[in-house]
Amino acid sequence: MDQSCTPLAILREVFGYSAFRGQQSAVVEHVTAGGDALVLMPTGGGKSLCYQVPAIARQRAGRGVALVISPLIALMHDQVGALHEAGVPAAFLNSTLDWEQTQDVERKLLAGQITLLYAAPERVSTPRFLGLLDTLHAHGQLGLFAIDEAHCVSQWGHDFRPEYRALTVLHERWPEVPRIALTATADDVTRADIIERLQLQQAEKFVSSFDRPNIRYTIVEKKDAKAQLLRFIQRQHPDESGIVYCQSRRRVEELAQALCEAGLDAMPYHAGLPAAERQANQDRFLREEGVIMVATIAFGMGIDKPDVRFVAHVDMPKNIEGYYQETGRAGRDGEPAHAWMAYGLQDVVNQRRMIDESPAEEAFKQIMVRKLDALLALAEATDCRRARLLAYFGEQMVSVDASASEEGGSYRRLYCGNCDNCLQPPEVWDATECARKLLSTVFRVQQMSNIGFGAGHIMDILRGKPTDKVKQFGHEQISTFGLGAEFSEQQLRGVLRQLIAVGALQVDAQAFNTLRLQDAARPILRGEQPVRLRAETAKPERRARAERAPRGRAAPPAAADLDTAGQARFAALKAWRGEVAREHNLPAYVIFHDATLAAIAARAPRTPEDLQGVNGMGSSKMERYGEEVLRICRQTHNTA
Ligand code: ADP
Ligand code: ZN
Repeated sequence: MDQSCTPLAILREVFGYSAFRGQQSAVVEHVTAGGDALVLMPTGGGKSLCYQVPAIARQRAGRGVALVISPLIALMHDQVGALHEAGVPAAFLNSTLDWEQTQDVERKLLAGQITLLYAAPERVSTPRFLGLLDTLHAHGQLGLFAIDEAHCVSQWGHDFRPEYRALTVLHERWPEVPRIALTATADDVTRADIIERLQLQQAEKFVSSFDRPNIRYTIVEKKDAKAQLLRFIQRQHPDESGIVYCQSRRRVEELAQALCEAGLDAMPYHAGLPAAERQANQDRFLREEGVIMVATIAFGMGIDKPDVRFVAHVDMPKNIEGYYQETGRAGRDGEPAHAWMAYGLQDVVNQRRMIDESPAEEAFKQIMVRKLDALLALAEATDCRRARLLAYFGEQMVSVDASASEEGGSYRRLYCGNCDNCLQPPEVWDATECARKLLSTVFRVQQMSNIGFGAGHIMDILRGKPTDKVKQFGHEQISTFGLGAEFSEQQLRGVLRQLIAVGALQVDAQAFNTLRLQDAARPILRGEQPVRLRAETAKPERRARAERAPRGRAAPPAAADLDTAGQARFAALKAWRGEVAREHNLPAYVIFHDATLAAIAARAPRTPEDLQGVNGMGSSKMERYGEEVLRICRQTHNTA
């Protein structure tokens, strides 16, 4: 192979990065050589390079264009823009192009002038597009198929897109063209489904660690979600970019407004907004700094903004896959970031109800319930959240600090040092008695009145509150009346939550969310199954930064470490970058990452040689912006 075509040479020349990360190198070698691959890598792991480098290598070797399937029409413009910045000929074909633009792209394709072509899955099965691929193939100019967000092919994934099913045509029609499928989420069921649906049985599987060490996980009990969220942002992430996920459109609107009223720069995003407004909000989020997006899960897939500092869930997602995918959007740049969730009894009730009410088949519901239970267990956990998350994806965590992982005699506790439970181990109380009392109350009212009652009423009985409803149904007579007076409502809610989570109680959505006893309640009622819960300690939420510093990637010179003159250069470079980005209609990070600007500022460069080897400074950017960058640095030398 020509030296300029080796993957490492391309990585350095085009992208300006010195080395591949983790599995990237193995994937790139395999695919460049024509092998099929399934790549599972967490968000921020660097999946794009896994197909972009082989695409360039194969094009340089005369093998033609790489077709990239991506469901993210709204982001194709930026993805292609980023490649242009790196000097790579790329284009997209989707519904945003008019007839003339489409023809122009097709002409360039046939002239061999394009290295990567992005297209939406629904386009692939159109006769016109298939004809185009046929022509390319006939000339030996179809070099690679890359299928991004491959979990969309599976209904077990959290983002099923039926159009993905039709992608099998690629392999059936052009079996010798190598394929690479990539995803950031896939538990065992989803993974098996992707392999089967996309016929990747023969493909090499590359599974990376799913750990995101720079993300700190915190899950708090929901009291007043709005106030808690506000406190979290104001205390821990002032002026930083973040995403707040909510379950419903109404809540998105409500919270976005509340944050704005509190003086934060927040915007709503959900499927009910007009397309133009959605796009405008997304663009602002990507292009500006310190903006908060309050959104439903309609927002975020493919959002590759590297400096999202926090992802907050004010409502509980459906399952761990969704939670991990969404929280994974924080800290792609490897710098410290925060995943924060508030969850409460109502979340459990709502999620259970959605499953019960769905028209899906029983087998499907069963899987959904199991997935929800895993998330509930994570939320209720008193041990390391990271260890649980990784275990869910089939990975065994290694404690970062063995001495700290010793707790309670022979019991070894896994310790990541960067989740709420590791940083501040919660107290645990034995809620077995309380659970038994709650369950027998549910049992007795059911027996006595022959109808079910909701959580509030059950708690009133146990706490001995003679409400109108209690009197109306004569529930003061029940033997457990007042037996739980020593428990706070919060404690009782916690226990109920757990009882629903383990399936001892069921919420009947058809009958005013009444609670019904299930078989799983028996061992608890008989005292055979202990119930242990985190104690609600009313500790103030401490400032995250004051605690043990979160771990980032082996740190490049961070902006915070610069001296005064360096800071001045950094600020000037950022201002310049903002102008360029606006001119090119691209997000700033596509021009240069913060880390690249910080590295430049630290070097105080005077000549082009001084810029050699800065991470993120590829040859195209050097040529385009090198002089400008030097000019700005020199100017700042003189004024500083
Ligand atoms: P993913 O698609 O897996 O979420 P990306 O491909 O967007 O991740 O990469 C995440 C970030 O890491 C990007 O900003 C990218 O430029 C950077 N990156 C990826 N690979 C490398 C590498 N080998 N060296 C330096 N930076 C990298
Ligand atoms: Zn931990």
